[in-house]
Amino acid sequence: MCPCCGAPGAPLGGRLGLVGHGIRERQVLGPCTAEGRPELIVLRLRRYRCRHCGAIVTSAPAGLLRHVLYGAVAIALALGLWAHGWQPGARVRAVVSPWRAGAERWHGWRSLRRWAQSGARLWPGLQVASVGAREQATSIVTQLAARAAEASGAVVALACCGAVMHITAQNGWTIDPPELSVEVISSSHRR
Ligand SMILES: [Zn+2]
Repeated sequence: MCPCCGAPGAPLGGRLGLVGHGIRERQVLGPCTAEGRPELIVLRLRRYRCRHCGAIVTSAPAGLLRHVLYGAVAIALALGLWAHGWQPGARVRAVVSPWRAGAERWHGWRSLRRWAQSGARLWPGLQVASVGAREQATSIVTQLAARAAEASGAVVALACCGAVMHITAQNGWTIDPPELSVEVISSSHRR
């Protein structure tokens, strides 16, 4: 189904509403699960064009955030470890980033504050007050955890789950089962 105009992707017996429109490569950083290792993954995402409204739609796995290199799970995990786990930025970075640490070892990890401040943009619908970055991170993690499928568990793990569920609910990628249209072409772990 086209997320822009709602036209069916492949109406039964009718003409295909969404037609293939090439492949786009997309990098995603971080662990894919709360317990995963940090990695760099290159995905090949299938694109479609809607015959009805002309929209170009990219079919993507639910864990991707628009215009952000790190995956949704990685960011939720990072904010959770930082805000709820009270871990220093450099420690969080070591868990979440596939890249070697640079100056962050002394200054903390700048991405954490940036993500905390842009929570409502990353996950539209979240209510994030203009308070300190760590308070914002706490609020984001709590709200994401409330969206998890499970009712109980560690708040950080729940937030990782909710981070993906929330995007799925927002985007409604319903072209294919997303796994079918995603091909991992490379995956590298930190050495
Ligand atoms: Zn459309």
